[in-house]
Amino acid sequence: MDADLSRTVEDVGEIERLLDGRGWRLRFPPPLEAGFRSHHDDDALRVFRSSLVYLALLYFVMAVTALTVLDWEKVGAWPFMFSGFAVLIIAAWRISYTPLIRQRYQQVVCGLAALVMLIAAINPMLEQDPEFRTLIHIGGVFAVVVVYLGLSLRLPYAMLAGWGGGLPPLYIAHTWGVPLDWVLIVPTYFGASVLCMVLGFRDERQRRRMFLQGELLREDRRRIAMLAEELSRQALVDGLTGLANRRQFDQALSREWARALREEQPLALIFADIDYFKLYNDHFGHQEGDDCMRVLAGVFRQQARRATDLAARYGGEEFVLLLPGTGRGAAIQRAEELAEAVRACQLPHPRSQCAPVVTVSVGVVSAIPGSNGSEDDLVGRADQALYQAKAAGRNRVQFAGLFQEPMAGA
Ligand code: GH3
Ligand code: MG
Ligand code: MG
Repeated sequence: MDADLSRTVEDVGEIERLLDGRGWRLRFPPPLEAGFRSHHDDDALRVFRSSLVYLALLYFVMAVTALTVLDWEKVGAWPFMFSGFAVLIIAAWRISYTPLIRQRYQQVVCGLAALVMLIAAINPMLEQDPEFRTLIHIGGVFAVVVVYLGLSLRLPYAMLAGWGGGLPPLYIAHTWGVPLDWVLIVPTYFGASVLCMVLGFRDERQRRRMFLQGELLREDRRRIAMLAEELSRQALVDGLTGLANRRQFDQALSREWARALREEQPLALIFADIDYFKLYNDHFGHQEGDDCMRVLAGVFRQQARRATDLAARYGGEEFVLLLPGTGRGAAIQRAEELAEAVRACQLPHPRSQCAPVVTVSVGVVSAIPGSNGSEDDLVGRADQALYQAKAAGRNRVQFAGLFQEPMAGA
């Protein structure tokens, strides 16, 4: 958890540095850049289809306008070329439903955009009527705006489509000696391209800043969730031993008591207290005492074998095992195994008055919950049994008398 937190702190520092920076580069350091691209393309794909609807409308309006002002006497091959836009819009709509666009949005849309520019650049060359040609040049500005600002292309792809689609036909036409209206081409195609590059740059930088701010928010949310998880874990776990703490034990006891009552099943508690632990601390020091507690906690953890068993630190040097569905015979056997497992650790205890090694005294109780008792009574009985085990000389297991007999054979 500490490692996770420091990692996020580093990330946050990097994001804040990038947000403060005023660089010209449209590129983040590697992991962030990959995050931005996939985030950006996800968004882009979402708006792509709705953009196609607007583009189709724009195309329709332009087509109707063209048809009303067109002088049919002088018409060239232009309408044929213009219908290429319709073909592209339909193709783009079909492609928007293929997995290819999901994987390679920028490349696919860049290809389509380059075709748009190609048609836009060739279109005016096919019109004879100079007035109408002027209109087509102005229409080309729309194509440039759409390519740079309407398709969610990142700036390099928009430039590739804008210049890569428009310049080759102009160059070829020029070398073939086709007359070109430079007076119109320069302000429309070149002028619009340069303006859109500036706007596209600002747009992408703005998107990148929004992405960074979103990342900060996502990072905050991750950290809050992590801290909340850690806090709730800490609220239920004993810091020294890593076992369940008293609070978790109390919750589990209530839950299991209710379940045992409902299902008429026995519920067993095993309380264990380290013998002469004060003397152990006095002899070895508190830190050694803590180490000893951790070793015994491991023994207890191993004894909680089933998913519903719970090993907890009850308080001080006292541990408890909660064993649902365990009757008298099985509970006593488990308690004896536990006491033996503690002795088997062979932790020397020179000042113990009952054995040369660390031992525990154990109180056991098992009951089928009924109307004549509560979970507190169960704990009280186990505690009494533990007290009796201490009084009888320690290092032993004592079973408690019951307010209701456990199920036979359970
Ligand atoms: P008994 O056999 O009657 O249980 O004797 P005892 O000395 O174990 O019992 P007592 O209640 O007199 O003392 C309990 C000791 O347990 C005193 C206290 O210092 C020690 N203890 C309780 N919690 C911790 C702990 O977290 N770490 C350490 N090192 N010692 C602890
Ligand atoms: Mg003790
Ligand atoms: Mg004690």
